[in-house]
Amino acid sequence: MKRRVVKNKKALAQKAIIVPRNKIGVAFTRLLTKTIHQRKGAVGFAGNQVGMTEHVFTALIKGKWQFYANAKIIHKSDEKVTLGEGCLSIPNKVFKITRYNHITIEHETKEAGVITADFFGYEARIIQHEIDHLNGILIEELHDNG
Ligand SMILES: [Zn+2]
Repeated sequence: MKRRVVKNKKALAQKAIIVPRNKIGVAFTRLLTKTIHQRKGAVGFAGNQVGMTEHVFTALIKGKWQFYANAKIIHKSDEKVTLGEGCLSIPNKVFKITRYNHITIEHETKEAGVITADFFGYEARIIQHEIDHLNGILIEELHDNG
């Protein structure tokens, strides 16, 4: 399927803007609308990949598409793992990327406010990739040289 994901490097370098709690629901609905038909074979979309400025992303976690607002990493494991990683915004390329094997994030929900969540392994990798996007960072800037 043809994806309509932003590939413009200047647009992708923009840092996302924190979403006020009362706007989180609206932002998630918009992100869902913009990504639902592009999910096949994908594991995550950051807001700025689909033309949104808000600090939101959606990721396939435990078999379900979850939504996160204002997410930031508050704990990183000492253990790191290096694996090939792709990006919808950089089609047909794989970069060797070193990621933390376990992270704890803080994120915000409409109902519960700021909460924490833990991710391990591949899912921790997805979350780090999407949070990087929202900080304007692409994997081609991170990959190990050699
Ligand atoms: Zn990406």
